[in-house]
Amino acid sequence: MITLKNITKTYGGAAQIQALKGINLTIDDGEIFGIIGKSGAGKSTLVRCINMLEKPTSGQVIIDDKDLTKMNESQLRAERKNIGMIFQHFNLLSLELIGASKDVIEKKVASLLDLVGLSDRAGNYPSQLSGGQKQRVGIARALASDPKILLCDEATSALDPQTTKSILELLQDINKRLGITIVVITHEMAVVKEICHRVAVIESGVIKEMGRVVDIFTNPQSQTMKDFVTSIINMELPAGIKNLGVTDQLSPDRYMLVRLRFKGAATSDPVVADIVRKFNVEVSVLYGNIDYIQDEPFGYLIVVIMGDMETQAKAFSYIKTLPIGSEVLGYVPRNH
Ligand code: ADP
Ligand code: MG
Repeated sequence: MITLKNITKTYGGAAQIQALKGINLTIDDGEIFGIIGKSGAGKSTLVRCINMLEKPTSGQVIIDDKDLTKMNESQLRAERKNIGMIFQHFNLLSLELIGASKDVIEKKVASLLDLVGLSDRAGNYPSQLSGGQKQRVGIARALASDPKILLCDEATSALDPQTTKSILELLQDINKRLGITIVVITHEMAVVKEICHRVAVIESGVIKEMGRVVDIFTNPQSQTMKDFVTSIINMELPAGIKNLGVTDQLSPDRYMLVRLRFKGAATSDPVVADIVRKFNVEVSVLYGNIDYIQDEPFGYLIVVIMGDMETQAKAFSYIKTLPIGSEVLGYVPRNH
């Protein structure tokens, strides 16, 4: 387990830059934890504090009950064997296994290359490898000391979407097969959606929000997280629906326009059927958008509940008791 307690980091010099302003975070063993934020938010500083490449100005970094901020350099060097790191750009491609025999090294290299899918590339020079293959070498190198934690700082940011996908799949595979805790630093919500179990959003050195990725995607709270979520999921009303003449005015000649938000097991069809049956109303589905976060479906439906005012209100109160998110978007004319 990684615990960060009240971490602050101020860079010195004439202009004092407070890069981290009291970070509290717990990352569980075996978790893929995402830290997302815009450029300059403090992500790299934060991840470098986890392995103490950057010394926090105050606060504690505790890994498996050991406080890294209390260690001297040689203790830290030993501890860092448990923490692998990969970056966006890398140029170190040699594998250093100090003190190991040639035989042991060869076996180790072979098994690492196999793990990252590069067995047939053992004899290649770095210049003969593609960006994705180089990143695989970076991952192999980071795993050489059998770490328990892998820190990835924008590891896929320089890669095209297809290669990004394959590297993310590799990280997921490593997490599942070896049980390694992975901390993913990124400015791309698509990366978080693809592999992270939980995510924290950081802005100006402050964590604005954190939670399970499925929950965050279906119900972001902070403006910062909302901005990231809407960067890949469009929650805006489709233009066609806006043009129906939606108002926030409740009246007898209007129907209620409702958005139903689903995640996980609560799928859409039974809910709509349920409302139709229970309240003897018609429900017309105007728009639907279902996506997957890893293996969990999530998404929303925009429906019109067609009944008299009292029945619409009753139906909506009932929807509120269901394990789904919902909101009234407005009211549309009956002849919409
Ligand atoms: P991110 O990785 O989210 O882009 P960084 O952690 O690199 O953010 O930077 C956070 C803030 O700290 C920025 O304002 C940046 O300019 C500043 N900063 C980062 N590294 C240093 C450094 N070595 N010296 C001075 N300021 C730094
Ligand atoms: Mg950075």
